[in-house]
Amino acid sequence: MSEHQFSYTGFSSLAIHGGHRQDPNYAHLTPIYATSTFVYDDAEQGMRRFSGKEEGYIYTRWGNPTFREAEEKIMAMETFGFGDEQGKPLPLKAYLQSSGMAAISALMMSTLKAGDKVLSHYSLYGGTQEYLNNLLPSFGVEAVIADLRDLNLAEEMLKKHPAIQLIYLETPANPTIQCVDIAALTSLGKQYGKLVACDNSFATPYLQQPFKHGVDFVVHSTTKFLNGHGTAIGGIFIGKDVEFMKGRTYKIYKALGGSSSPFDAFMLINGLKTLEVRMERHCGNAEKVAALLSSHHAVASVNYNGLPSHPDYEVAKKQMRHPGAMMSFELKGGLQAGIKFMNKLQLCTRTVSLGTTDTLLSHPASMTHYSVPKEQREQYGITDGLIRMSVGMENIEDILNDLDQALN
Ligand SMILES: *Cc1c(COP(=O)(O)O)cnc(C)c1O
Repeated sequence: MSEHQFSYTGFSSLAIHGGHRQDPNYAHLTPIYATSTFVYDDAEQGMRRFSGKEEGYIYTRWGNPTFREAEEKIMAMETFGFGDEQGKPLPLKAYLQSSGMAAISALMMSTLKAGDKVLSHYSLYGGTQEYLNNLLPSFGVEAVIADLRDLNLAEEMLKKHPAIQLIYLETPANPTIQCVDIAALTSLGKQYGKLVACDNSFATPYLQQPFKHGVDFVVHSTTKFLNGHGTAIGGIFIGKDVEFMKGRTYKIYKALGGSSSPFDAFMLINGLKTLEVRMERHCGNAEKVAALLSSHHAVASVNYNGLPSHPDYEVAKKQMRHPGAMMSFELKGGLQAGIKFMNKLQLCTRTVSLGTTDTLLSHPASMTHYSVPKEQREQYGITDGLIRMSVGMENIEDILNDLDQALN
């Protein structure tokens, strides 16, 4: 029963059992601790809890037993199969958050102060882009955006902007599935004494483990593949400087107030258990979908890091177990072809987001980016006929049949 004594050989064993502790009432699953506050046996215990002399829960914004299992499972996944310099599991500390954006916000607020700069790649999740370009400047922090696939350019930026404090990576990234080299950028960052963080939402720790390549922080939107069923918004902020995480970060976490909710954490725990099985199916299906799209007469091009034609194919192959389940493709007929294609779908789901059991398709030009001027969105690779796809776990024949009938 004690998970600490067992050394897991496989990822699923860890995903299913890791982080679980015996419930005081012997419940099989960790219950939803739906409580805002926690009580004390006596005033002295209250004093010990508040002063940090005794471990224990105080208030759910500060931590909760249901959050704890999700946090420990995800930390175990992020360090599965490798150790620190002594071969021991890398110690980490994590905070479960109400959303991926709350996790990103906690990261930025913990590591940056007025006068600092943050270096990032130009292809990023839209909310992160908004955060870097429009929110941080009002707190005196500037974003330096460059094509981080070019390591010489990355180094040039580090030399030119000594105020850069944090290098923020997201790989693979929206919507072109561009990948940046985590190991190379981390080692470059370390030469210049910078902190490095990686948004691992698209890949999940099953496909890619940024801590293995030396990053300091990992953030996730757990809303996507980690939850896997689209039942809750959530995020997690993980760091390997445990002292920093328990000090400054914990203060920021409590002050920002972006903690998760026990119900959402419970949904997340259930999803995490099947991560390997789901990712294997998602990724296997994605390879077959990419093959169909690349040979289809109605498709002009396919952005999928599992195709040798993708510019970041080699980088993805080096740092990911499988290329993932996200792709985008360009229809030959532009905006009208995009709208027509979306309307003809019968099985696949018309929506944004990613990582659920069903196949999701969105047409950014008529949906998420409808109000963005054409020239501006094209700078981000969002052309008129671009379709973004999160390949689901349906039987592959059905996905292929639906796409084929909608394309014809
Ligand atoms: C969705 C997403 C986010 C934001 O997460 P929310 O849970 O929606 O706040 C951040 N990064 C990436 C890569 C995402 O896909």
